[in-house]
Amino acid sequence: MKALRHWSVRHAGGLRRVYEAFRRYAPSFDGVVRLMGRERSEKLFLPLERVAKGLFFDCQMCGQCALSSTGMACPENCGKEMRNGPCGGVRPDEGCEVMPEMRCVWLEVAEGRKRMADEAPAESLLLPPVDQRYRGRSTWLQIVASENGLPVVEQRAALRALERPKYGFERACESGRFLVTVEITPPDSPDCTDLLKRAAYFRGLVDAMNITDGAGANCHLSSVAGAAVLTANGHTAVCQMTCRDRNRLAVQGDLLGAAALGVRNFLCLTGDDIRNGDHPGAKAVFDLDAVSLLGIARGLRDEGRFASGRKLDAAPNLFLGAAANPFMPPYADRVVNLEKKINAGAQFIQTQFCFDPGLLENFMREVRARGLHERCRILVGVGALRSAKGLRWMAQHVPGVHVPEKVIQRVANAQDQALEGKKILLETIAALRGIEGVAGMHLMGYKNEDMLADAIAESGLRTRVA
Ligand code: SF4
Repeated sequence: MKALRHWSVRHAGGLRRVYEAFRRYAPSFDGVVRLMGRERSEKLFLPLERVAKGLFFDCQMCGQCALSSTGMACPENCGKEMRNGPCGGVRPDEGCEVMPEMRCVWLEVAEGRKRMADEAPAESLLLPPVDQRYRGRSTWLQIVASENGLPVVEQRAALRALERPKYGFERACESGRFLVTVEITPPDSPDCTDLLKRAAYFRGLVDAMNITDGAGANCHLSSVAGAAVLTANGHTAVCQMTCRDRNRLAVQGDLLGAAALGVRNFLCLTGDDIRNGDHPGAKAVFDLDAVSLLGIARGLRDEGRFASGRKLDAAPNLFLGAAANPFMPPYADRVVNLEKKINAGAQFIQTQFCFDPGLLENFMREVRARGLHERCRILVGVGALRSAKGLRWMAQHVPGVHVPEKVIQRVANAQDQALEGKKILLETIAALRGIEGVAGMHLMGYKNEDMLADAIAESGLRTRVA
């Protein structure tokens, strides 16, 4: 099956021509469907389609076939059911984050699209979330009967600047100053004293603090509650929101709930593989991917409508961000994926950890060529670990993080490993600040707040006020 799946991608050009011919001529047979009746026709088409598409495409029968837009590679084979490009966890050998033995489906998509010589620019193609009512039904029959279940590939225009009041972090982003954000993990407790103590390290040093949402698929206090507590205590919070644990109803409810508690800024993420966390037996949701989540959040704000189309009584005022990972394959497609997120609604971007400024330079060259740095603010993720052992563990076990061996060795050979880690962080910040288009730094480090606050001050990103 898998061998044939690769064959289909290699022959995507020819298969697309077959598909187009089918799409053109099949509706002429809709009279036969009417004669046989919808139900009997489905019984006839379904087993044939399942066998043929299963054999050639490893098709999972979502009932809204997107093969002609995805280079004849079925996106339903993706471990996170992504519909709009790769997640940040693709492995260095191009293996899938969730199923390492499988090549990332989205690398196959890119290959197939090249062979199809698809003229539609990849960044403008936004596949809507799967409509679960069509799952397991025949797409062929929908084409013959000219029905509407097929996914409409949306082509969205660049983000319009909307007139609405702007607050803390959004204003900082618009000010043009070099930005500083930091990531904080919520506590394993309803008592937020420790969270506030850790946040206090950054008072006056950062433009916003991200509150993670089950980072690494580990359970903590919810990001909505954490962001609300920070906001109530005078901090500017960015609430991270993943698709791993919520379907489209829950995510919209949480966006409105957080906005009701004064939280304005959201980082829209797909989420890490659930099997890497502390509840590996739990069911991952992935009803949406980060691109769809951005589109839905933007719809709440700009159109005042739920994803269903139902009107809200009042639209929330949201400032939306997304993540990017320039440090893992497919390197060439990472900028396309970034543009897709900007088209979907991202106004700021925070990247994965950067331990290799050279890779970031390559990424930013393409970002500038496409003018993306002028359409959103790009903050580069940086951080330090206290030991070489920690760095090596991160490189081996945290999907999407690239730590060059020479960085690990430099820390391992140092007498004071924590100090060396901090030195590397300061050097990285200095190197990244010089890259045109980089709008700020996003500092990360699990329960390492004191060191990160020192690094912000020592690097000259901000001055500590006594
Ligand atoms: S690496 Fe990510 S995007 Fe690629 S197939 Fe696996 S889960 Fe999907």
